[in-house]
Amino acid sequence: MDYALQSLDPRLELLERTETATDVHLHVHLRSPSAACPACHQTATRRHSATTRLFMDLPDTKRPVRMTIRLTKWFCDEPACSRKVFTEPVPWLPPRHRRSARLEEQIRLIAFTTSAVQTEKVCRQLGCPISNDAVLALIRRHR
Ligand SMILES: [Zn+2]
Repeated sequence: MDYALQSLDPRLELLERTETATDVHLHVHLRSPSAACPACHQTATRRHSATTRLFMDLPDTKRPVRMTIRLTKWFCDEPACSRKVFTEPVPWLPPRHRRSARLEEQIRLIAFTTSAVQTEKVCRQLGCPISNDAVLALIRRHR
């Protein structure tokens, strides 16, 4: 099963899938021949290195899905640009967020119809565990 990787980003490639009765862990990588520098918007094609991020995505049959993504760091070769190296920006995984944007949106939808404590309970049953404090932080960030 390819989970819902392609709907998250068609450039995603599944490297490894490990699962137990209680959770799923996917190791993925973003296939890109180039990336746009976030500072000067020039296309970069020279690879620097790679970095990984761990985040949660939509649950798979009520099991939490944790994903480790390998992202390329690129050299920006534009002489006038202040960024010499950047990590490829991923629109569906904002910097420092630990959940994909689509998972945050689903949690927010639940939270807007009930309390943070109830959202915590519902999300745990659905396979996307989150504390009520984290629910409140999600709502505040959305404003
Ligand atoms: Zn640049």
